[in-house]
Amino acid sequence: MTVRIFRNARIYTGDPSKPVATALAVQGERLIAVGDERSVREMISGPTELVDLDGACVLPGLYDAHIHTASLARDLTSLDLRGTGSLAEALQRITDFLPRLPDGAWLSGGRWDSNRWAVPVQPDRQALDSVCPDRPADLSSIDGHTHWVNTAALRAAGIDRTTPDPIGGEIVRDLDGEPTGILRESATGLLRGMAAASDTRDLADRLLDAQELLLSVGLTSVHDIDGEDCRAAYLKLRDAGKLAIRVHKAIPVTALELAIEEGRRTGDGDDWLRTGPVKLFSDGALGSHTCHMSEPFPDGSHGIAVTPYDDLVRLVGRANAAGIAVATHAIGDQAATLVLDAYEQAATGRLRNRVEHAQHLQWADIKRMAQLGVVASMQPTHCTSDIDLVEQLLGDRDIASYAWRSVLDAGAALAFGSDAPVEEPHPFHGIYAAVTRMRQDGTPPGGFQPEQRLSVSEAISAFTLGSAYAAGEERDKGALTVGRLADFIAVDTDPYVSEIAELPRVKVDASVVGGELRWQA
Ligand SMILES: [Zn+2]
Repeated sequence: MTVRIFRNARIYTGDPSKPVATALAVQGERLIAVGDERSVREMISGPTELVDLDGACVLPGLYDAHIHTASLARDLTSLDLRGTGSLAEALQRITDFLPRLPDGAWLSGGRWDSNRWAVPVQPDRQALDSVCPDRPADLSSIDGHTHWVNTAALRAAGIDRTTPDPIGGEIVRDLDGEPTGILRESATGLLRGMAAASDTRDLADRLLDAQELLLSVGLTSVHDIDGEDCRAAYLKLRDAGKLAIRVHKAIPVTALELAIEEGRRTGDGDDWLRTGPVKLFSDGALGSHTCHMSEPFPDGSHGIAVTPYDDLVRLVGRANAAGIAVATHAIGDQAATLVLDAYEQAATGRLRNRVEHAQHLQWADIKRMAQLGVVASMQPTHCTSDIDLVEQLLGDRDIASYAWRSVLDAGAALAFGSDAPVEEPHPFHGIYAAVTRMRQDGTPPGGFQPEQRLSVSEAISAFTLGSAYAAGEERDKGALTVGRLADFIAVDTDPYVSEIAELPRVKVDASVVGGELRWQA
């Protein structure tokens, strides 16, 4: 088999014993030599093919530990209300977008953030009806925990004043008891799948577009958190040989029993598509005031415990006993405490159970994560997007917020991701946020709670080796060493020597997965 030698590069290997190299050799999908060109050539025999990297800076392929690729793929062709400054601007954007939709398709997408509107009030169905009266519309808030729907969508889903609130959710009602068009938490599930089903474009085809986008920002692996339809689409792409990024595919809790029945176990699969953890929810989100806090919000509520504690314990025990790791969404500090309690009580085996987001934590729980071997799966850009909300809603309570420094110092495993499409998928935006804790406009100067900043090297490690560790793949991915997969990227700016302010603008020139060039600028 021909050996491919990539030469003439500054290669940051991620291997502390040999941090920088100038050449590497690939056979099949794996690295067989890493070093300087002479030593690499000496180590191999037989036919070779030379690839000159023209002095590029090379990093291990970046690995997003929490991303919704099916949602991202659908968002590529769905309404985007991010950045709107008012309800009127949102309605104008909807009006402009509607002519693009095929007949019969629901208006979907959204990502509106009424906290950022001129009048920061959640909208109602009448406003949506005024621009979209006939076609059903189901528009998610930025964090996905609240949906804004129109009257046609409520009608299509059979929701009216007599419909009871589902457990763990709310159909918000006006003074007359009529639904306002705002659905919270599990109530958003009353319409789940209806918008997607109304659009007949194939998810696998859409995922190919998303894959291009992910490769273009330097991602060579992802932990996908979306549903079973997404898994089916990835299986189809893998079997057709069209998968160009590697996928660790989470199981939604609704499919846990099916997965157990089918004998799926975390880590099963091949280097392209593996079974991931089951995804559980402990609470909601900060922006929707539904994350579960030990101390109440200014309005007196403690947020929502989406999965009752006893169910959490049962699900953790059931999944782990079947060889399936658990990844539980926990944003509020009380949610994280309960998740760790449940892991302590019910986890079995040597599975890498995780806390997703881990945004607000009791200090003692950070130590407990390390002791229990629980992975903190965090998204640095959530921190910089949420600075105002945290200051406004959480004031000065003595908890740790987005505390990746403390997580690392406690000795817990840290994996980074984007949570796209909630945030942009660009890992260099995340690396910048982790290192500065500033928005891209440089505010707040010095960074939000700057004692929690990471070094560039630590941030890149959490976006490579940390994510690999969370998936149990640290021997295959996360660094460029002999025996590991030849997944790497060439970037136009060396993040280790550039100005920190340049980090969000680092551009990817090429993405190589399994030794093959999969994307080029
Ligand atoms: Zn998510």
